[in-house]
Amino acid sequence: MDKVFGMPPVAYRKLFYAKNYSVYCIEEGSNPTKAMCLDPEPSGSRQCRFCGRSEPDVSFDKEAHAVPKLIGNYFLFSKTECDECNAFFGRTVERDLANHLGAARVLLGITPKNRNLKYGSGDREVYLERQEGCVKLIPAPRYAGLIVDPERQRIELCMKSPKYSRSKVYKALVKMALSLLPLPEMSHFQDTAAWLLSSGRECLDNNFINYQWMSERFVPRARPRLAFVMLVRNANAPTFLPYYMFVAAIGSLVFQIAVPCTEKDRNEFDATILQVAYPHVVESSPYATEIVSTMKDMRSDITTNGMERFVYNYIAAEDCPKSKWTE
Ligand SMILES: [Zn+2]
Repeated sequence: MDKVFGMPPVAYRKLFYAKNYSVYCIEEGSNPTKAMCLDPEPSGSRQCRFCGRSEPDVSFDKEAHAVPKLIGNYFLFSKTECDECNAFFGRTVERDLANHLGAARVLLGITPKNRNLKYGSGDREVYLERQEGCVKLIPAPRYAGLIVDPERQRIELCMKSPKYSRSKVYKALVKMALSLLPLPEMSHFQDTAAWLLSSGRECLDNNFINYQWMSERFVPRARPRLAFVMLVRNANAPTFLPYYMFVAAIGSLVFQIAVPCTEKDRNEFDATILQVAYPHVVESSPYATEIVSTMKDMRSDITTNGMERFVYNYIAAEDCPKSKWTE
């Protein structure tokens, strides 16, 4: 199943991407100076990039976020996602992504502007609340997942996340990737869009099963911009490398997937799609050795709780004059 993996040296990975990929799209959803819509204003009736239906069969009244708000995107919108698809993704895959991120959103500060974010663990053993840069932690009396080391000013937290399905989390990332594609490229992703809109056991469709892996990296100390998303395209397609790879940096968490494209990817053999971790900007810094990389198997559509473990350094409340919790 999941495993922490050693990455090839950064020089090798830089060379790999320089040789095989070009950066196709790079966007930052949390930068208000870059508020933008990814699609040009449609000249005629609008068409949905996912279900293919047009006005007046479907409406486009709601503001569709190209990348969900829950990961800190307030400024990237799509004009080619109909209200029906928007609602479908919101109540299915994006809910699973939120549950998968779980406490990380509060702990990493991925919060809506001027709003507090509250979180209850899947078993209601722990509550977290973030306010004015501080995290308040309220454990149940019997909660045994908290270890405090006052000498090193360090806490370790283990808790259950709310339930989610890994396959849906993977789909949420694929949905973001497809939202960033220019419309003409969507012609290569018709199967993928249909698969995204399917629900149930289609998650294990043979055409897509080998894609469903996600690399997840935690980059301590680094504070990459929130909702930083990037697509890279295989410059030599079709090859045995994925046509597109998608990278999303959410606070200190970096996710990477191969975007399924049954038309362009040569995947005749039964093998996991190759993934090489995109070099992170901090990998040339002294903190590079602290990056924790995990390759996650996202092939299960069973809805279950995940276990989360966080290790944090903390500042004692009396040393933190700005905190309202010191009152
Ligand atoms: Zn649609």
